[in-house]
Order: sequence, then structure tokens, then C-alpha cells
Amino acid sequence: MDKNSYFSEVRLRYAPSPTGYLHVGGARTALYNFLYAKKHGGKFILRIEDTDQERSTMESLRMVLSDMKWLGLTWDEGPHPETLVDMGSFGPYKQSERLKIYDEVAQDLLQRGLAYYCFMTDEEIEKQRQAQIAEGAPHPRVESPYEQMPLTEAQAKLKTGDKAVVRFKTRHLRKDYHLKDLIRGDVQFPSDMVGDFVLLRSDGMPVYNFCCVVDDYKMKISHVLRAEEHLSNSLRQLMIYEAMNWPTPQFGHVSLVLDDDRQKLSKRKGATSCDQFRAEGYLPEALLNFVALLGWSHPEEKEILSIQEMIHSFSTERLHSSGAVFDRVKLKWVNAQHLRAKSPVEMWGLIEPFLKANNISFPEERSWKFQSLDVFKNYLEIVADAVPLYKALDDKYFEILPEAKEALGWPTSKTVVQEWKNAVEAFPEATISEADFMKLQDTVKDRSQTKGKNLFMPMRVAVIGKPHGTELKILVPLMKKESLIKRAQKVLETM
Ligand code: GLU
Repeated sequence: MDKNSYFSEVRLRYAPSPTGYLHVGGARTALYNFLYAKKHGGKFILRIEDTDQERSTMESLRMVLSDMKWLGLTWDEGPHPETLVDMGSFGPYKQSERLKIYDEVAQDLLQRGLAYYCFMTDEEIEKQRQAQIAEGAPHPRVESPYEQMPLTEAQAKLKTGDKAVVRFKTRHLRKDYHLKDLIRGDVQFPSDMVGDFVLLRSDGMPVYNFCCVVDDYKMKISHVLRAEEHLSNSLRQLMIYEAMNWPTPQFGHVSLVLDDDRQKLSKRKGATSCDQFRAEGYLPEALLNFVALLGWSHPEEKEILSIQEMIHSFSTERLHSSGAVFDRVKLKWVNAQHLRAKSPVEMWGLIEPFLKANNISFPEERSWKFQSLDVFKNYLEIVADAVPLYKALDDKYFEILPEAKEALGWPTSKTVVQEWKNAVEAFPEATISEADFMKLQDTVKDRSQTKGKNLFMPMRVAVIGKPHGTELKILVPLMKKESLIKRAQKVLETM
């Protein structure tokens, strides 16, 4: 079949197995396929690989779809994000609804003698494996006594109720297979790396390597960008393509995402799934920007990119073959850049739900909100960073913390707090600007005859209840005079 005419359209897919959350590695794979499709005016397809019935759940499917939607990785074909009804003309897009299609292909291979029913039990297979290991075989593999059984005989055996898997025949395929990988170049696989492998389990369920090939072909997938861990699967897949005389898509196997200790990304170091980053207040565009750079780089090494810029500059030539380190510090930095570039209205829209969820009250005036953003902006890397900042301004959370005890015990501290209260009371306006605050601080310094930590720490306790924390010149201008007086009074009462 002519490859070029078969793949007349650029079509890429992301094919998650709904067995858990959308992992950042999965989001990256989805993104690369999305970018390639968009860059080339093609289609991005979402296919659900749910043939592992024990591990696949509806809940997980919904979560994956919702995270994809949140990230803005919208798909042209696949289950609708809310109704799950198929969109597109190459469906069904859930593998569990395509069993008839796999069965037809398996029957074709059986008829042509390229696959066979194998009745070996698990115990027999294990026994054979142990024996091969004992003999020193480097790659033990199934040598099935049923490989030569005529199909009619096997079918008769099935009718008696015997259980069989369908295996792909590899004995006659003694040669090297080549893959022109878009990222790794020419990859060579000796065919004896694999033995006769299963296509359909005894319950009729197809295995990943089989349904993946059938679907990629039937859905006319022209390019497959997927995780490096699937590279070794490619040999089995190439064998199936060859047996079916189907054109192969172009493959690209992207590098692994590693933790900073160069091990596989692990939950012990923090969030690894998109929903966790979402809950912690990361922005979807920042997460996408960051994961894009794990294994790909912009031609001018630009680091902060919008989705449009990524689509525009994406190419498989700039995908790296070596593992990419998931640097959580950098992720925060990337997030901060995207967050600070927001307009005040957008930024408040992001922050407010976090404040409400944490029961933090704030003045309703728009001018106050914008002023607070202007001041806090530089302290925000992720949206959740706003919580402690705004909490410090909410009187109902004001308390004198145990760590304040030492500073309050110094001989000069009472005078400092008293002078601070006096200075605030004497101040003519309702709010205090940063410059005013600096002047008030000088007044307290002169009147209490203190300086350095003897001055700053008790003052800070008088405002935020603890000797360390956000600078007062930042907080005080956002606070009402009465609130400052009340807080100082509360502190004096404990001294
Ligand atoms: N369902 C597979 C996975 O989640 C897809 C692999 C592929 O893209 O071929 O890893």
C-alpha cells in the first residue's frame, strides 16, 4: 500500500490508559502530539486504551479528560469531554468498544497461518521458562507445541471448551527490523528479541501491542510520538504491520522524565499528576510550557512560551533523546512568569477562589484588590502562595504565636509596641503608605531608643503576631489603621 496516499492527512493521537491520574509525563506526550498536529494543520485524536478491564475505571477516564481540557489540549476526535459520546468518523475511540475489529484482524492472521491458537497453561509456560533459564538462555521465550497445529484442529479443540490465547508466529521472521525513529534515528531490533507473543487473551481481550497497531492503522495515524518505554514494543508492532501489509506511521520515542536524582519521577518528591499541580495553583499554560521543555527546546532557546509560540516553533528535530530532569524549582519559576504576566483582573480571578476556599476575608473594593496584587505580585510563584499573604491581613486569624515570646520578653519591647501603637493612632489618614510607614518606623526608633532586631521584631509581632515573615512595609499599607491599633493593643495586653 502506498504510504503517502494512505497518510494523506497529518493525524496524531494520545492514547492514555485510564488507570489513574494524568501524569505530567503523559501530559507531555499529549502535548507533543498536539503541537505536531496543530503545526501541520492536522488532527489530534484522543483514543482510550481501556482493554485492561481490571485497572481501567470510568472515574479515571473522567479525570484524564478533565485534566486534558484544563490544560487546553483539546482533541478533534475522541470521546466528548463531558458526555463521552464519540466525536469523529474513525470511532469507536474506546478500545473496549472495538473488540469486534481486533477479532476480525486476528481471524485474518489465523487464516493465513501467521498466528495460532495456543492452549498452553500458565503453569506449562512457567515450567518452560524455568527450564530455559536453567539452560542459560538469555531471553527465555515461549516455544509452543501448538504452533504447527492445523487451524481446523485448534478450532475443534476450542469447541470442546478448551481455552486458548492467539499467538503471533515469529519463527519464520529471522531478520533485523529497522525503525526510522524521528528522535533516535535508525533503531535496529534483531527479531529473536521476541518469541511468539500474545495478540488475544483467552477471554478474547486484545493486548496492547495488537490493538495499538490495529487502531493506529484504522484511525490513519500518521505520526506516533510516545514514551521511550514503548520503544521495545515497536518490534512486535512492526511485525504485525508487516504481516498485515499495512503502512507504518512515523514513530518518535521521547525521552524519560526523571527526578533530580535521575531516577524515574516519583511521588515522594512532590506532585506528579496534573490534578495535583492544578490544586496547588499552577497555571495550565505554565505547566504546558514547562513540560514542553522537558525533552524539547525552542530554536532560540526561549524559555517562556505561549501555546501559540510552541505550535509555531515545534519540530521533532529539537526533541532530545536523553532523559529530561523534572526541576520543580524551574517549574515554579516558569509558573511565576506566566502568573505575573496576567492582568490584575485575571490574577484576582485566579486568587479569589483560593482565598474563599481557605475562608480568608478581604475588602471588597476593587482598588484595594489591585493594590494588594501590585504589592504581592512579586511574592507569588504559584496561586496558592497568596493564601499566607492574605491570611496575614485578615484580623480573624491574628494571633500571637509562641515564637513571639522571646522578642516580647526583651526589656525594650513593651516601649516599642506602645510607641508603635501611639504613632499609628496619631497618624491622620485611615491607611498608611509605604513611605509613611518608613517615617512611622523612624518615630518609633527615636522614641523607644532601640534599633535593629530590638526594634523590628517586636514591631512585627505587633502587626503579624510573629517576629519573622513578610516585610511590614509591604503589609502595613494594605491594612486599616484600626486593625493595626487593635493588633498592637492585643499584644500589649499579653506583656
Ligand atoms: N496506552 C499506552 C500508554 O498509556 C499508549 C502507548 C502508545 O502511545 O502507543 O502508555
